[in-house]
Amino acid sequence: MATGKINVAVENIFPLIKKFLYSDHEIFLRELISNATDACSKLQHLSSVGEYKGELGDLQLEVKIDKKAKTLHIIDNGIGMTEEEVQKYINEVAFSGAEEFLEKYKDSTKDSGIIGHFGLGFYSAFMVADKVEIFTKSYKDAAAVHWSCDGSPAYTLEPTDKLERGTEIVLHITKDDKEFLEEARIRELLVKYNKFMPVPIKFGTKEESLPLPEDAPEDATAETVTVDDIINNPSPAWNKKPADLKEEDYKAFYRELYPMQFEEPLFNIHLNVDYPFNLTGILYFPKLNNDLNIQKDRIQLYQNQVFVTDNVEGIVPEFLTLLRGVIDSPDIPLNVSRSYLQADGAVKKISNYITRKVADKLNSLFKKDREAFEAKWNDIKVVIEYGMLSEEKFFEKADKFALYPTTDGSYYTFEELQEAIKDAQTDKEDKLVILYASDVEEQHSYITAAKDKGYQVLLLDSPIVSHLIQKLESSKENISFARVDGDAIENLIKKDTPTVSKLSEEEKEKLKPMLEDVIQDQKYSVQLEAMDSQGMPFVLTQPEFMRRMKDMQQTGGGGMMGNLPEMYTLLVNTNHELVGQILNTRTAKKRERLIRQALDLAKLSQNQLKGEALTAFIQRSIELIK
Ligand code: ADP
Repeated sequence: MATGKINVAVENIFPLIKKFLYSDHEIFLRELISNATDACSKLQHLSSVGEYKGELGDLQLEVKIDKKAKTLHIIDNGIGMTEEEVQKYINEVAFSGAEEFLEKYKDSTKDSGIIGHFGLGFYSAFMVADKVEIFTKSYKDAAAVHWSCDGSPAYTLEPTDKLERGTEIVLHITKDDKEFLEEARIRELLVKYNKFMPVPIKFGTKEESLPLPEDAPEDATAETVTVDDIINNPSPAWNKKPADLKEEDYKAFYRELYPMQFEEPLFNIHLNVDYPFNLTGILYFPKLNNDLNIQKDRIQLYQNQVFVTDNVEGIVPEFLTLLRGVIDSPDIPLNVSRSYLQADGAVKKISNYITRKVADKLNSLFKKDREAFEAKWNDIKVVIEYGMLSEEKFFEKADKFALYPTTDGSYYTFEELQEAIKDAQTDKEDKLVILYASDVEEQHSYITAAKDKGYQVLLLDSPIVSHLIQKLESSKENISFARVDGDAIENLIKKDTPTVSKLSEEEKEKLKPMLEDVIQDQKYSVQLEAMDSQGMPFVLTQPEFMRRMKDMQQTGGGGMMGNLPEMYTLLVNTNHELVGQILNTRTAKKRERLIRQALDLAKLSQNQLKGEALTAFIQRSIELIK
């Protein structure tokens, strides 16, 4: 029997491993299974190039718990190791890697954004075991060996009688880590990290019913057999060629990824590049609602089919973290901080590639079947609008397929929209004025009024719309947006409908102080306007800029503005019969009642009449109709 000391500078490397990596104890299993998988892949490779001429058999891993002995076993029938190789790879390579890692990790503990901790390797076994044994037999014609180490740098290495090719790692689990002797816990970890590993992993057995023969009587019960429980799918959809997959396969894979998700995805994007970096994956557009935060971070990042994390921040552009699916790339550096990731050139390229693929896919869906695209718009618009705001490259592409729905349910691209309104909706400076509503119920009377005049009214109701409008106004020439209940619409209406005022200048001069006497509230500024005699007598509008500032404050941004005051313009329609009545009423009391009534009606149509004011309005209305 050979004995020796592992060649490490730090005598007590094991306490260090435990201390630094405490919160990540569970990843030892991922590391050992990765090694075992590599051992199988290496053998397969040797066989394919003719260097190994023996039987490959069914390459497989097995994970076993021995509760009595308090051991966990990871077994493979891969390449195995000779005595010299154990000396070299375990005693030297593995532990020098450990030292190097600890050096790095000491500094990086300050930066909690580290992902993955890849490259921990074999020695991570000592995070959960106080003794580790290796039984291994190489594919080469060499004697099997048994290595054992109890956590001090001393180890033993001796011959053993293992007959089958491959390696068995035995972990003697510590008292503190006995959770790793529980079947449910191990199963959970295998499913989390190894669900798509390329070599089948057996964990226990399960009962499976055999199919009934065709002529079986109706009350026959199926026979069951005990079969190996293979926990992984070694050839996940993202590794297949898009041409070999049908829509149904993509949907089935979605269910495999998110078994608890009952809603089907809208469509998917298959990613596949091998130059200048390697990346495969499938992204899905789920149905999204307006609550963005809870829907983020469902994309899973893999490296060669090993799960790393479901936080892809820094790798995928922010707006695409709303999608679901998997990304698999060996080219993403994983034991670095997120801030480093974001600055890394290769990662930036990956992120740009993903953005471009998503834009291209959307564009082709739009071109291929516009109607279907329109039907999905409501469920996908948040991602697209978010992307247009945050990524200039995406904005340029999305400009061709982003849709602007009207309150009547037609959909325009920006170009089509400009064409549709160019004759009717310009202001004095010949700018196109795009009218929009944010809520069809609340702004109903304004929408109707605008439509009656032949204007198109868009329905823009996503949470970031005020930011998007700002962006469109600054990147397109000669356009401005005006909310249908805002004051900006006035510019437009006046130009197109040059209504003559029924009141003379003197009458107007008399009317204004009458109104201001009654309406003393500072938040209303009275403005006389000759409007359609069939419209409302009083109309309340909010200055466009003020409302936008408020919206933007609510959705983040512009936080320094403090509490913005409420401000309204009260447009008084000098052509309305009721306004004429106000002017000509003799008793001050009756005039006041008419003014209050008209103001309340204006508030009512803005959904602003509440509480005491509403009660007073009802009282007054009853008085008036009596
Ligand atoms: P890494 O896998 O990053 O090289 P490890 O510390 O995990 O580092 O392992 C060191 C070496 O030990 C591996 O490169 C491999 O040569 C060998 N090894 C580990 N596990 C096995 C195994 N199950 N079968 C064969 N060789 C193994």
